[in-house]
Amino acid sequence: MLSLIQTLPPFSKAGDMHSKGTYYNLRRLTAVIVIAFTALAGASVGVNLRQVRDHTRELAKMEALTTFNKDQAFRFWATNHGGVYVPPSETTPPNPYLSHIPDRDIELPSGKKLTLMNPAYIMKQAMAEYSELYGVKGHITSLNPLNPANRPDAWEAEALKSFENRAVKEKVEFTKIGGQPYLRLMQPMVTQEGCLKCHAHQGYKVGDIRGGVSVSLPMKPYLAKETMLDRTIVSSHLLVWVLGMAGIGFAYRRGSVDIRERMKAREAIMAEEERFRNLVETTNDIIWEVDVNGVYSYISPQVRSILGYEPEELIGKTPFDVMPEGEAARVREFFAKVMGAAEPFSNLENRNLTKDGRLVVLESGGVPFYGKSGVVRGYRGIDRDITERKKAEEELDKVLDELTRSNADLQQFAFVASHDLQEPLRAVTSYLRLLERRLTGRLDQEAEGFVESAVDGAARMEHMIKDLLEFSRVNTAGGAFERVDMNAVLDGALENLSTAIKESGAVVERGQLPVVYADPAQFVRLLQNLIGNAIKFRKPGGKPVIEVVSRESAEGWVFSVKDNGVGIAPGDIDKVFIIFQRVHGKRYPGTGLGLAICKRIVERHGGRIWVESAEGSGSSFHFTVPGKAVK
Ligand code: ADP
Repeated sequence: MLSLIQTLPPFSKAGDMHSKGTYYNLRRLTAVIVIAFTALAGASVGVNLRQVRDHTRELAKMEALTTFNKDQAFRFWATNHGGVYVPPSETTPPNPYLSHIPDRDIELPSGKKLTLMNPAYIMKQAMAEYSELYGVKGHITSLNPLNPANRPDAWEAEALKSFENRAVKEKVEFTKIGGQPYLRLMQPMVTQEGCLKCHAHQGYKVGDIRGGVSVSLPMKPYLAKETMLDRTIVSSHLLVWVLGMAGIGFAYRRGSVDIRERMKAREAIMAEEERFRNLVETTNDIIWEVDVNGVYSYISPQVRSILGYEPEELIGKTPFDVMPEGEAARVREFFAKVMGAAEPFSNLENRNLTKDGRLVVLESGGVPFYGKSGVVRGYRGIDRDITERKKAEEELDKVLDELTRSNADLQQFAFVASHDLQEPLRAVTSYLRLLERRLTGRLDQEAEGFVESAVDGAARMEHMIKDLLEFSRVNTAGGAFERVDMNAVLDGALENLSTAIKESGAVVERGQLPVVYADPAQFVRLLQNLIGNAIKFRKPGGKPVIEVVSRESAEGWVFSVKDNGVGIAPGDIDKVFIIFQRVHGKRYPGTGLGLAICKRIVERHGGRIWVESAEGSGSSFHFTVPGKAVK
């Protein structure tokens, strides 16, 4: 993902537009291909149709020329022979237009009659027969015909006129005769020697244009063939065009689906990229990527606020470049080891120098990432700035050290003081007692009172010193923990309190108690202090009723000592566990150390102690012992 962040353009809109652009390009390209393909197909149809038309005309012209040439040859032959004699018949009567020729009709010695057919006459007959048989009409004509029936039609007349210009040797035209399509071809007829036999009287000389011969070829069969070919060309082109269009359409669809999918995939990547970029850039930690040599290929902008470098300044450098010398060697060695085993790492504390030379402690973690071949390509990870936390921890350690030392000093002092004070105090007490015994009856009442007060004070001080000594030794002189039946512990405590119980008439209601791991002597002391207080702080004139029970809770066992005594004012509740704090004043005897000792014992066992009370309606002292029931 990090490499993705680097390779993608910074604005997702740009990528979006790129994809849309590709889409529009595809549409434009497809439109161009469609137009070009259609134009090509159209041009091919045009060229092919034109070729067919030209070919048809060429063929027709060739046929017309063949017919024409044959007619010409035939006519020349007849002219060369000066005409041909045939027996006159109904279809070939003597030609009235040759009556000026003396030998028009002859009689053979056998008596058989013959009549002269001049070339025009022969041709007319032959052409009429040919026309009947094959549809190709031949016509020999002149602007000045002997036989008026040989007069030219309008087209021929025009052609004949054009031949008067000697340069024009032929007239060819596709035209209509009687509404039908025909190819008409005409060439001039030049007067030859043979012609003069019949036409000399008309004033022609050899070489004169005498008329012309035309051929009219019916185009219908050719055009029918041409239409058929045209249809084939058009339909085959249409087929190719349709197939081409289908192909283009298919390619377009595939292309657009492809682009749409690519657009979708790209959008998904963009969204993902944006999400990661936001995460990477909003976290307080530095996110980084290094290659196998530890060279940064990415580092997030947080490096600016933590180390004072711009990300670009560190790309191409290694983390070791910003570490003090010894630290760089240590971390480099560590990194080489981790990288060699391709292992992830975490909680690596390392010291770095900011751009302006301050020391910053980072806590780093990273995981390897792999290339396609499965080889480690580098590491990606996070650096957290723990400089402040480290400072606070060091401070805390220092304070803790000092506290432990002063506590130990205090404990030592309390122990020494209480221990060493015991001796002189005992001396004071015993001499006071001696004095009291010796002087009884010899002193006045006031002096006796003084001595009594001195004895009392000394006794109270002895108590305090004893309690203080005990308080100072809860942690140091405590016994080992063992399986302790709390019912037996309670028995022991009640035993120690038997006189007080008897004197006060106290009633102790007890529940079934569990077995726990504890220091038995300290727990006897604990219950004894709590029950002793419950008796001591009873209501004046009242009989103490004390309940000792236990229950299981999430914290372990909870023991409760509940009484019906004077209770504690709400403002005093927090004070009762502090040493020498006595919230009911001197009305009750005591040292103010009992509950402080209880607290120390409970805490030594990993539990806590607290009180619930309301003034005048008794108190409930609770303490916990961690752990489940011990079997
Ligand atoms: P001491 O009993 O020697 O005065 P403790 O440390 O045992 O000292 O108790 C501190 C103070 O807490 C007592 O002086 C008393 O004011 C108050 N206290 C302790 N237990 C009870 C109780 N069960 N009911 C009312 N007040 C109590």
